[in-house]
Amino acid sequence: AESLARAESLIRTIPDYPEPGVLFRDITPLLADRDALRATIDAMIEPFEGRFDVVAGVEARGFILAGAAAIAAGVGLVPIRKAGKLPRPAASVSYELEYGTATIECHDDIAPGTRVLLIDDVLATGGTLVAAHELVARLGAEVVGTTVLMELEALGGRALVGDVHAVFTA
Ligand code: IMP
Repeated sequence: AESLARAESLIRTIPDYPEPGVLFRDITPLLADRDALRATIDAMIEPFEGRFDVVAGVEARGFILAGAAAIAAGVGLVPIRKAGKLPRPAASVSYELEYGTATIECHDDIAPGTRVLLIDDVLATGGTLVAAHELVARLGAEVVGTTVLMELEALGGRALVGDVHAVFTA
């Protein structure tokens, strides 16, 4: 609990990044701290312990957390990437952004029925995690949980994504 409180204090809030009016949560100071990183990863996976076969992390900050979570939990990792980065995409899902659309893709390196824990750094409007959920479902795998380091409550993403575990809220 002490490490988690410290971890929370290491999330930096940057005004007007990447655009005027946006309050950006910068998790890199937390990542740089050994105890904060460990406590945060443990808290992200703890509610799902023993109930998932792989983690799926969303590019790019989701990769960092998913890599650490995979080792901590003793499972494999499926990267969910922005369009055009994977050599043999098996599934692709497009979704709305504030301006325009985005597409995410993944390989089919997991068998149908595989139990997947979805991981990202920040839940904002929820569009990214809804699309990631759909992507995993298209492979015939089962999303058993969704976990984020931080939820930005004012943006209402939970209403879209449904059941999400968030270690920190703002
Ligand atoms: P959403 O699709 O609106 O929920 O946006 C979530 C995506 O945007 C995540 O993949 C985050 O990495 C990124 N994101 C949104 N806001 C922030 C922030 O304040 N800090 C870091 N990443 C953010």
